[in-house]
Amino acid sequence: MRIDQLFGGGRPLFSFEFFPPKTDAGVERLFATIAALRDLDPSFVSVTYGAGGGTRTRTVDLVARIKHDLAIEPMAHFTCVGASRSELRAVLDTIRDAGVDNVLALRGDPPAGETAFTPPREGLAHGAELAAMIKDGYDLCIGGACYPEGHPESTGMDAELRHTGVKVAAGVDFLITQLFFDNRHYFDFVRRARAIGIDVPIIPGIMPVTNVEQITRFTSRIGATIPDALLRALNDRSDDAEAVVQMGVAWSTLQCAELLAAGAPGIHFYTLNRSPSTRAIVSALLVAEPWRRRAD
Ligand code: FAD
Repeated sequence: MRIDQLFGGGRPLFSFEFFPPKTDAGVERLFATIAALRDLDPSFVSVTYGAGGGTRTRTVDLVARIKHDLAIEPMAHFTCVGASRSELRAVLDTIRDAGVDNVLALRGDPPAGETAFTPPREGLAHGAELAAMIKDGYDLCIGGACYPEGHPESTGMDAELRHTGVKVAAGVDFLITQLFFDNRHYFDFVRRARAIGIDVPIIPGIMPVTNVEQITRFTSRIGATIPDALLRALNDRSDDAEAVVQMGVAWSTLQCAELLAAGAPGIHFYTLNRSPSTRAIVSALLVAEPWRRRAD
């Protein structure tokens, strides 16, 4: 089923993102993790696309298995990195032939050590170009990425929003945001996106913190910020792994409750292949149903 047909029902969308493990044993463990989240009735599950190397074919294999063995709606992430147009089409053919209906169309990051993205020979330069290729040749629902705090290569938020608009005009049916820890970034981004005519659903991306060093490194790489109060609270607990996880769950739950009460169409969880935090947060949200508070 296409993800764009899931919006507007009684319940917001809850989706979980995983990355393909490097080994067969890892894949089996991940599959068990995803199966264990089934009782939360995820709207869809997405699988990232590697920067290169061996895990790329696993993305398509995993989404096909998620769909056919677990009967959960999957979305394959897909990037322009290292592929010509015809190679991109070959992968898209495989995704379509596997019966998968949803693709997240991404440009991908520059290779490690490089700051600028150089389009591959006969390849594509931007996520919008990939979205246009998919729209032109495939009957697939297309997701795209967006950046409430800007992208590391951003020249400013006006340009970032304009490029997001181009992506939507090229065929993107919904957007998922980069992770953020302060909801004001999301609310501001959505307001500005609506003002320039971007009318597709914008799903907030949330990552429950599980490790202080990891989240500090990751946010500085992607250009996201951690509010001072949260960073202080995490640093105060940095020698107590369990307390960090608890703070991560509590902070994300508060974030999600506020987002959903304000009308966000769903929450996309960056799980890092670990399910307990996401399970705790979604379980509480399903009980509290903050989206019903919208009219208050
Ligand atoms: P683009 O939309 O091409 O944007 C990249 C930059 O170029 C932005 O600064 C944008 O403003 C600018 N830009 C866009 N169009 C133009 C234009 N016409 N002229 C000038 N500048 C322009 N990476 C992976 O490798 N695998 C994954 O599975 C993966 N999953 C992700 C999932 C989500 C939800 C998100 C938010 C990111 C994900 N990423 C993934 C990371 C993503 O690939 C990087 O952020 C990448 O650097 C940008 O991809 P994009 O599709 O947003 O690029």
